[in-house]
Amino acid sequence: MSDDDMVTNWAGNIAFTARRLHRPASPAELRALVTGARQVRVLGSGHSFNRIADTDDPDGTLITLAGLPPTVDVDTAARTVRVAGGVRYAELADRVHAFGLALANMASLPHISVAGSVATGTHGSGNALPPLSSSVCAVEFMTADGTLVTLRRGDAGFDGAVVSLGALGVVTALTLDLEPAYEVAQHLFVDLPLAGLDFDAVTSSAYSVSLFTDWRGPRFTTVCLKQRAGRGVDFPWAAPATEPHHPVPGVPADNCTRQLGVPGPWHDRLPHFRADFTPSSGAELQSEYLLPRADALPALQALDAVRETIAPVLQVCEVRTVAADTQWLSLAYDRAAVAFHFTWAPDPAAVLPVIARIEEALAPFAPRPHWGKLFRTPPTGLHAVHPRLADFAALVTELDPAGTFRNAFVRNVLGRA
Ligand SMILES: Cc1cc2nc3c(=O)[nH]c(=O)nc-3n(C[C@H](O)[C@H](O)[C@H](O)COP(=O)(O)OP(=O)(O)OC[C@H]3O[C@@H](n4cnc5c(N)ncnc54)[C@H](O)[C@@H]3O)c2cc1C
Repeated sequence: MSDDDMVTNWAGNIAFTARRLHRPASPAELRALVTGARQVRVLGSGHSFNRIADTDDPDGTLITLAGLPPTVDVDTAARTVRVAGGVRYAELADRVHAFGLALANMASLPHISVAGSVATGTHGSGNALPPLSSSVCAVEFMTADGTLVTLRRGDAGFDGAVVSLGALGVVTALTLDLEPAYEVAQHLFVDLPLAGLDFDAVTSSAYSVSLFTDWRGPRFTTVCLKQRAGRGVDFPWAAPATEPHHPVPGVPADNCTRQLGVPGPWHDRLPHFRADFTPSSGAELQSEYLLPRADALPALQALDAVRETIAPVLQVCEVRTVAADTQWLSLAYDRAAVAFHFTWAPDPAAVLPVIARIEEALAPFAPRPHWGKLFRTPPTGLHAVHPRLADFAALVTELDPAGTFRNAFVRNVLGRA
C-alpha cells in the first residue's frame, strides 16, 4: 500500500479520513512522526468495522507499523513471547508453535493484528477462557512526546492499558503468556433446538464452544466443539455433522480450519478460518454484545422474539462464552460473559435499524458492545455497563494530557464528544 492510496478497512465500509497512511521503517522514524504530529492514530490490520482507528481530519497522522521489524521473541524459560506492534496472530502462532509453545486461545480469524485485537477486547470462546487481552503480561507504548512506557501485570494502570482503544500511545510491543503446545479437534453437530437448551451443559462440553444460528428458526444450525486432545466429546443434544460446514449456511467450507474430529495443532483449529487462505473480500458487517452469562437463556429468548427482524439482513449469528477478567474496558470485566455476535449483509442502511432493535431487546441484560464492531449505544449507556470507564478516562488524561491519541470515537466513548 503506498502512502497516497485511499485506505479503507477490511470490510470496505470505512474510508479512513487521513490523507496519507504513514509507514515508518524504523523506531526513529516512528518517533519523528509521533512527536511532530497534532493527532496520531495507529491502524492495525484494519479489521474493525467502525471509526475506532480513524483520525478526525485529513491532516491527522494515521500510521501503520507494518514497515517495522516483525519481532517475535520467544522466551522458552519464562514461557512468554514479546511481539512487535504490527504482527498478526497467524505469524505469531507459527513462531510460537515452532518452540513447542501455544497461546491459550485465538479469535475466529488469524489474520488480525495482536495489538489491534487486544486494544478492542477481542475474544474467542470458552467457559474458562478470558479475552485475548488477558494473556498480555506487559505492554510497551510510545507516548506523544516520544517516551517509551512499559507497564507490566501488577503495575498501577496496567489493567487499563491493554484494552486501550488506541488512546494511550503507539503500542510498539506486547509480551504474552504461553503454555505448552497442544492439539485440538473440532467436532460439529447440526440442528440444536432452543427449546429445552441447557446452556451451561452445552457450553461446558468442550474447551471452546461456538453455537451458530441464522435466526430463521428457534434453533442453532451448527454447534462447533473445539476439544483439546485427550479429552472426549459427549454431546447428546444434536446429531453429528457428516460433512464440513462454513459458519455461514450454504457457503463452501474450503477456507475453514479442519473439522470432523481430525486433531491438529492448536493454531490450526482454534480459529474458524485458515491462516493460509486470504479471507474473503469482507462483504459483511459485524456487531457483537457481551452480557452476563447467567442471562444467556432469557437473552436468547429476547433475540428469538425479534428473529423475523434479524434474519433478513443476517449472514450468521454466533454465540460464544468468555471467562471474566480484570481489564477495565474488557467486555468480560468482572463478569463471566455470553457473547452474541452478528455477521450482517454488507448493507449499512438496512442493518443499522436492526442493530438498534437488538440493542433494545438486549437492554435488560446490560450488554457491552464490542469496541471494534458496529453499535449505537450512547456514551451514557457505555458508562452504565463499564464500571471502570471513568478510571480509564483518568488514565488517558494522565498518559496523553494533550489528547494526541484521542479521536472522535474515543471522545465519544469517554463521554466528552
Ligand atoms: C472476519 C473477522 C473476524 C473477526 N473475529 C473476531 C473474533 O473472533 N472475536 C472478536 O472478539 N473479534 C473479532 N473480530 C473483530 C476484530 O478482532 C477487531 O476488530 C480487532 O480490533 C481487529 O484488529 P486490527 O488489528 O484489525 O485492528 P484495527 O481495526 O486496525 O484497530 C483497532 C484499534 O486498535 C488500535 N491499534 C491497532 N494497532 C495499534 C498499535 N500498535 N498501537 C496502538 N493502537 C493500535 C487502533 O488504533 C484501533 O483503535 C473479527 C473481525 C473480522 C473482520
